[in-house]
Amino acid sequence: MMKVTILGTNGGYVSAGEANSSILIENNDDRVIIDMGSGVLSNLERVCSLDKINNVVITHAHSDHFSDALVAVYGRLISKQLKREVQDLVFHGPDDSLLKEKLKLENVSSYSVIDEDTVLNIGSLKLTFYKTIHGVTCYAVKCEVDGKSVFYTSDTSYSEKLIKEAKGCDLLLCECSILKKYGSGSRIGHMNTAECAAFIKETKASKVRLVHLPCYLHYSIIENECGYECAKSLEEIIL
Ligand SMILES: [Zn+2]
Ligand SMILES: [Zn+2]
Repeated sequence: MMKVTILGTNGGYVSAGEANSSILIENNDDRVIIDMGSGVLSNLERVCSLDKINNVVITHAHSDHFSDALVAVYGRLISKQLKREVQDLVFHGPDDSLLKEKLKLENVSSYSVIDEDTVLNIGSLKLTFYKTIHGVTCYAVKCEVDGKSVFYTSDTSYSEKLIKEAKGCDLLLCECSILKKYGSGSRIGHMNTAECAAFIKETKASKVRLVHLPCYLHYSIIENECGYECAKSLEEIIL
């Protein structure tokens, strides 16, 4: 049984009490967090101690996807100093010099580079990665366990390739960054509400939640325009 907990829903900046897009995926004691931007750790501590997290995927080197990862390194350092029973924290992300430098701390945390050929097995969880269309190297993530799958688009413009990879997934977490009145999101490496709706329809995903949402809008405006439900922080989805 796979449990997905939404740890944050905003893209770019955050609204009061919110966090940047992030998910915790669990199957019994196997756990992984995907993306760790602003506010994510504070939400995580409401549902699971960071001490229980050994693997974090950073989809790309934009700070709304990794800023709290810098703080997570201190979290693990403090737990080590307190002599708690914790493992080193392993970050998995693109080949980026800033991430590699800042997320590595001896006897505390390490950094492992992913690419499209990487198959990451975390206990029963199998993760694979797919390049998105974005300003920097960015990976969408598919996580599979016991025949169930969740697909997280991360940041991307409309992409036929990602539609193919996400096809038939049990849960699609799809970015939806701007309203359609602002034109195609492809100018800024994202999807507008209309592109997002078209993307989701093509994937035929069983369940859908919108993520990477603008912090300056009420989510009902997005839902009305896109026709799909926005994720809520701390919402749990069982697959
Ligand atoms: Zn972003
Ligand atoms: Zn980005």
